[in-house]
Amino acid sequence: MDAFSDTYVEEITVMAASQVGKTEAMLNMLGFIIDQDPGPTLVVLPRENDAKSFSYNRVLPMFECSYALKTYFPKFSDDITKLEYHLNRMILYFAGSNSPADLASRPIRFLFLDEIDKYPRFSGREADPIKLASERQKTFWNKKTVKVSTPTTREGYIFREFEKSDKRRFYVPCPFCGKYQILVFAQIKWPQDQDSAEVIKNEWLAWYECCHCNKKIKDYHKNKMLLNGRWVPDGAEIDDYGNVTGDVVKSKHRGFWINSLYSPWLTWSDIACEFLKSKDYIELLMNFVNSWLAEVWEENLSKTRPEELATLALSYQKGIVPASVKVLTAGVDVQKDHFYLTIRGWGFGQESWLILSTRVEHWEDVIQILFKTHYPSEIMGMDPFPVRLTCIDTGYRTDEVYEVCSYWQDTARPIKGQSHLSGVPFKISSIEKYPATGHAIPGGLQLWHIDTSYFKDKVTRLVRNTKMENLGGWHLYQDPSEEYLKQFCSEHKVIIRDKKTARARTEWRPISTHAATHFFDCECYTTAAAEMLRVFAMQADEGPRVYNPKKDDNQYGQGNWLRRRSNWIKRNG
Ligand SMILES: [Zn+2]
Repeated sequence: MDAFSDTYVEEITVMAASQVGKTEAMLNMLGFIIDQDPGPTLVVLPRENDAKSFSYNRVLPMFECSYALKTYFPKFSDDITKLEYHLNRMILYFAGSNSPADLASRPIRFLFLDEIDKYPRFSGREADPIKLASERQKTFWNKKTVKVSTPTTREGYIFREFEKSDKRRFYVPCPFCGKYQILVFAQIKWPQDQDSAEVIKNEWLAWYECCHCNKKIKDYHKNKMLLNGRWVPDGAEIDDYGNVTGDVVKSKHRGFWINSLYSPWLTWSDIACEFLKSKDYIELLMNFVNSWLAEVWEENLSKTRPEELATLALSYQKGIVPASVKVLTAGVDVQKDHFYLTIRGWGFGQESWLILSTRVEHWEDVIQILFKTHYPSEIMGMDPFPVRLTCIDTGYRTDEVYEVCSYWQDTARPIKGQSHLSGVPFKISSIEKYPATGHAIPGGLQLWHIDTSYFKDKVTRLVRNTKMENLGGWHLYQDPSEEYLKQFCSEHKVIIRDKKTARARTEWRPISTHAATHFFDCECYTTAAAEMLRVFAMQADEGPRVYNPKKDDNQYGQGNWLRRRSNWIKRNG
């Protein structure tokens, strides 16, 4: 509602669970328009019957209950039908998304699209109902669109719209340690020996475990937490005092995400109970994930096939940097007696090109390839590219990795993969000593813990986008090796149910026990390095948004930004 009365904002997307007050908020915005800022308005619901019912059961009673709104009611009852209100200063229309004629007929300034994931799927032959409706707004400079829905799948309207927005999530402070966090289902706990949904619900056995101090947060704490909550856009950070900081691009498109855990009308036990009742039936579980957790349902759990991946190869040669590349990053998977490494070039709009993938036997080769070689550009006369940042896995030969990263601190970071970090792609911890010898590391070192599931999902999504929507693009050089293709496709995402707690979760697993996964891991590390450099925030018209690791203080989100200039990657530097 605040965003709605902010004149800068043009679009609002709300991806939320059911029963968190979405419709109520929409009615309030409608009331505000009628009383404060009248203009032709269209409210679209999935079907015409939904629209009639919404108009009759929700909007009319609002008029009847409000003295302010009543005064705008027309004298003649003919001016009010179920789908059209001719009010004193404006017209309010209601329509079903299934009747294109109603969507396309009149000019409108305010557009409300409710439950948009239930709109008929745009098939290419007919017009997209959302586009059809928003075409009507063209003549208004002060237009506003509100899109609201529980999510369905990644391909659903609301998720796609939310991805285009500034993606705000609601952070609430822990009543014990005061640290801010997003409420996520994984932190709801109940006694291990209790698996009866009804008992948990009736005896309020569940609690919320703070992801920072692990203390038990009870239901009665929730109200105060909600009152002190803050909306934080993607890319910004929140400190312990609730100050939101960070360099975030101001957007006319505000997105809000919220799940049932925030609902003041539900207890932790209600949510645990709903999960336990749904978990064994795929449709119920899907409903729980969409309507309670406000998360998308991964329909086809990810799997890429080598022959599909091979089709992403372009005509450029291995080791050559294509014209659109702005920065190179690398990832190294360390084995007992050899190494796998990949180098990838990144451009705008999440587009990337494989520059090198290889197996080498010695550290000298790794150092030569990553720290001493510059890669020639496709463009004649352009300076060759150094690898700007490399992530090196510390699973094996940890001391050696630390030593290398300590020497090449400007461009290499030691990383440790973890299957789940609570809500962040990476965390940093300080290392003082070499674990094997116990000797001190001069100046210390920072170890980056990275969420491997997050990056596996991300890489898979980047690959999938190339195939499906012409969005970004994950490219390979001409004739990539069989080994690269095979290893890249060696893991898939599966649903796993914990025998004890019966929780369903998804996890990346190797397709067969013998499958080597090194190049897939390398690409995840390469992508992690890109994320550390914030290449995904690079925008073609905005100039530099890449973080400079040479000058930074190793805190993600702080540090120095490069100044605006043409040679912003400082390639000769
Ligand atoms: Zn806490």
